Amino acid sequence: MDDSFKYQALRKALVAEIKKKGIKSIAVLQAIEKVPRHLFFNRSFLNSAYEDRAFKIGEGQTISQPFTVAYQSELLDVRKGDTVFEVGTGSGYQSAVLSALGAKVLSIERHKKLSDTAKDLLESLGCNVKCFYGDGYKGLPMFAPFDRIIVTAAAPYIPEDLLNQLKPNGILVIPEGSGTTQIMKRIRKTAEGKFTTEEFGNFAFVPMLKSTDWDTKNH
Ligand code: SAH
Repeated sequence: MDDSFKYQALRKALVAEIKKKGIKSIAVLQAIEKVPRHLFFNRSFLNSAYEDRAFKIGEGQTISQPFTVAYQSELLDVRKGDTVFEVGTGSGYQSAVLSALGAKVLSIERHKKLSDTAKDLLESLGCNVKCFYGDGYKGLPMFAPFDRIIVTAAAPYIPEDLLNQLKPNGILVIPEGSGTTQIMKRIRKTAEGKFTTEEFGNFAFVPMLKSTDWDTKNH
């Protein structure tokens, strides 16, 4: 399945929509315009690929709403060449957008099947993304520290390992909360290793699950 004028036109309309909703970063808008979101969808839902909403991708998981992907990407303030660690590969769409922003992306997912599918797709699209199967709470100590970390699942608290794996002057963007909605937080690590936190709006993500719950919960 390829890209086509039809999908390119739908992407332009989507970019106009999220711009109207408040996304300002030209680089982020260009990245959304570039990444063929329909390829991250099950074929039977193709017509919904460029609606600004979240969608089921199997295994009880969702591909985030384009506005949310753009919003988190904007908060992350990615510079070309940055190493970005993502928790929650899911469909791989957010990783592809980060790669289109010029980042070297490492992404971790707790569902083996989703991780494998995303890996194949991202490779076929030539994205600069390495996919890992494992527990995002622990980060990826072998590859740390990172310039940027983005969590795309609802974290009940800020994992200490992720803070430790951030470079000085690094940024972590994470939706925190265990209820139905979470608060988007941006945490900066200062050059001295201290942390400052800013809070943004409410969002709704699927939960970031502890590895002890993986066998019993599938959402
Ligand atoms: N970024 C994705 C959307 C992710 S949905 C996209 O663009 O499509 C959140 C994902 O986080 C789900 O796929 C879920 O399986 C995963 N997840 C939940 N808890 C996790 C954990 N502890 N470690 C790694 N991945 C986790």
